[in-house]
Amino acid sequence: MSPNLYYFILLSVSIITAFIFIFLYKNRLRSLNNPAFIAPLILEAIDEAIIITNSIEKKFQTQLQEKTKKLADINNLIENMKQYKKIEEDNIEQKIQEITFDIREEHTRLYTAVKNLNFGFIIIDKEKNIIITNNAADDLFSIPPVRTNINFQNLQIHTRDNVDLIKNTDSTIKNGNQSFLENIHINNKYVNIFISPIITLSGTTGAVILTEDRTEKQITQKSKEDFYTIASHELRTPLTAIRDYIAIIKQIYLEDIKNEELKNLINDIDTLSARLINIVNDFLDTPKLEQGKINIKKEPCDLIEIIKACINETSSIATPKNLSIKLNDPLKSVIVLGDKEKIRQILINLISNGIKYTEQGGITINVEKTLGSRYKISIQDTGKGIPKENIKFLFNKFQRTDPTRHMTSTGLGLYISRLLVEKMNGTITLENSEEGKGSTFSFTLPIYEQMNK
Ligand code: ADP
Repeated sequence: MSPNLYYFILLSVSIITAFIFIFLYKNRLRSLNNPAFIAPLILEAIDEAIIITNSIEKKFQTQLQEKTKKLADINNLIENMKQYKKIEEDNIEQKIQEITFDIREEHTRLYTAVKNLNFGFIIIDKEKNIIITNNAADDLFSIPPVRTNINFQNLQIHTRDNVDLIKNTDSTIKNGNQSFLENIHINNKYVNIFISPIITLSGTTGAVILTEDRTEKQITQKSKEDFYTIASHELRTPLTAIRDYIAIIKQIYLEDIKNEELKNLINDIDTLSARLINIVNDFLDTPKLEQGKINIKKEPCDLIEIIKACINETSSIATPKNLSIKLNDPLKSVIVLGDKEKIRQILINLISNGIKYTEQGGITINVEKTLGSRYKISIQDTGKGIPKENIKFLFNKFQRTDPTRHMTSTGLGLYISRLLVEKMNGTITLENSEEGKGSTFSFTLPIYEQMNK
């Protein structure tokens, strides 16, 4: 309350009090009509008025002080709040600046990473307008570096395969499904293309198109395959001729040859040419198997008969090393579903490996029925074993774990065996191996009878 207002109220109260007093005593004053009598009454009234005024003044002063104090407190509070608000505002501003900076940094990092990705990267909106591309995509689709409003549909895309990239993109945007186009010949390049929808709360808002350039890989792969095929064919023809000549020499002339050294030489040529033909065959088989170009029969085969034939065949390399090959407790008849020639190839490879990497003891073959309508054939040797660190990739292409790199080793035998076993719906594994003690390889094949019941 302002002081002026306070004095105004005080004065008004005093005047009102004086009037009340005059009103109350006006009859007595009139009737007495005597100044001597009136004077003390007036004084008394004034005294009373002063007392009333003082008490009112006191009361107002106390209230005023209380109000002023409260106002001061409120004022302090408001000041504190103002300061707090300012600090908060400053903090928020700083935080927003920091976050904005971080976002910008992250954006630049992402943008640079995407720009220089080996993969082509394009983001389009629902109408197929290009929003973002990177260098690889610009290069593949000949997108000009400076551009405005380019639509994916208007790019010059020439595909040799009957693949409609635009149709696939439309389908992704419309149905929200992903598309994968493999090895497409596009604008003179071989690419894999992956199209994925961008889905937000409001539905599909566009698509991401990723492209992987496979041109170099394709060319390398093709030259590799061509090289294998040409080299192997060129090697196989003369090698087969050598083997035929050696077979004739052995059949007709070996008994007549008296010179032991010459006899040994002829036998060595026979063994070595056989190994070389096997290696050449592995090189020829691998790409064909990988591409599914080898026909694998699925017919009933007598497993025990095949194993016995393989033992016979490999004894010629086991005997010179004094190694035994035996079939453990042969079951009477084990008929599996597969390809006789391929089963033989797998067995010969596993038994030959056993012989190759064993110096003492021998090879034991075991056949048992497994729980899942299969027979498991195990080939156990007492050889050098395989170091643990080499086990993981054993069945991959060109894996040779032997540090001495055995002369006949190509690292293809187990890989081919795996492909063949898998094509006959079986599995192949290294059951166990301990360095210096030996290894056990096993593979499974489906049982014929149960499959056909
Ligand atoms: P290759 O014998 O022609 O090298 P494989 O694919 O048959 O090719 O074998 C791959 C590698 O696995 C071999 O180089 C050898 O180091 C190892 N290996 C295979 N079988 C055995 C075995 N029975 N004992 C020890 N090592 C083996």
